[in-house]
Amino acid sequence: MPTVTRKEMFHLPEGVIYLDGNSLGPLPRAVAQRTATMMREEWGEMLIRGWNAADWMGQPARVGDRVAGLIGAPQGSVVMGDTLSIKVYQALAAALAMRPDRRVVISDSGNFPTDLYMAEGLLRTLGRGHELRVVAPEEVTEAMGPEVAAVMLTEVDYRTGRRHDMAALTRAAQDAGAVMIWDLAHSAGALPVDLTASGAEFAVGCTYKYLNGGPGAPAFIYVRPDLAEEAQPALQGWLGHDAPFAFDLDYRPAPGIERMRVGTPPVLQMTALEEALRVWDSVSMEDVRAEAVALMERFISGVEARCPGLELASPRDPAQRGSQVSFRFPEGYAAMQALIARGVIGDFRAPDIMRFGFTPLYLDAGDIDAAVEVIAEVIGEELWRAEEYQSRARVT
Ligand SMILES: *Cc1c(COP(=O)(O)O)cnc(C)c1O
Repeated sequence: MPTVTRKEMFHLPEGVIYLDGNSLGPLPRAVAQRTATMMREEWGEMLIRGWNAADWMGQPARVGDRVAGLIGAPQGSVVMGDTLSIKVYQALAAALAMRPDRRVVISDSGNFPTDLYMAEGLLRTLGRGHELRVVAPEEVTEAMGPEVAAVMLTEVDYRTGRRHDMAALTRAAQDAGAVMIWDLAHSAGALPVDLTASGAEFAVGCTYKYLNGGPGAPAFIYVRPDLAEEAQPALQGWLGHDAPFAFDLDYRPAPGIERMRVGTPPVLQMTALEEALRVWDSVSMEDVRAEAVALMERFISGVEARCPGLELASPRDPAQRGSQVSFRFPEGYAAMQALIARGVIGDFRAPDIMRFGFTPLYLDAGDIDAAVEVIAEVIGEELWRAEEYQSRARVT
């Protein structure tokens, strides 16, 4: 297998082993240069002319095409913008409009809360008696019936890394006559995704996790190409209009995926993302995934051998796991603070999950062994008991 490690492409602080790329990817060195140049030469010099001269206006579709290549979607089927919460709302609203006679949305208790919150808010706003049914991840298939309009799932669970069977669940949803929406927040850039093969109607995801687009990087939305002309945009922003600069008083959706744009795109963030995505020009998702699995197996066996107090919360079978490994530990918050103080950065999710992300682009076997060593010391010697690790910060 060709090596996928690209450490030289990333800025990582001295003495840090970064196991949190599932929350916020590190800074690709080229992004710092590209954004500095962009600000000077485009924003600084071009001013308003940049929308045409630097094609800022075409960026959401252009970057969307790059993301499409990473999630098994055809060119012209993905567009960038807004945040993932907004894209969830747009996808679900369009899905419900496709099934006007059905009133139930299915999701699961492993979903990220914002997806559920956005769904609740949308259903309430519609005011037509829709119901959100949140079931256990193993019970999703059973929950699908003739009343179900849409099934909305995140492929990889943000806490445990448990991975849904995308192809099988899409088939089951469609057999029940429902529209399938996948959230790829913890999939894009972590593992191969084949949206075309899955046949799913909609997909959404963010780009600041495994795609290293930086804090606040724009989200993406995919609409299956044969439905693009049918999908009703709930958020009728001017940049999703067929002719924004005609300034018509009436809304008319743009043809195709561009209708899922809303307002002015975040050009600085999108420039950072566009540059960050270049790393994928020289590595394949299959190779990255294979190496991530090898690193995770090494990590699990190391931690289990050295720290009997930590209980694996992730599926043991790598095929049923995304690119993260979680352990339960009652004092997980303090333990994670103690690890971070020693340069091993993961994160904590309530009530007791210590979460570690694996990204072979900038992690190798030596890093994993070094991290296991620090974890063994913190747990074995109960270093987490120190006073300074007990109080919780706003962001965990
Ligand atoms: C990270 C994540 C989000 C975050 O949504 P934002 O609107 O970008 O803050 C949403 N959903 C899932 C499943 C996530 O993992």
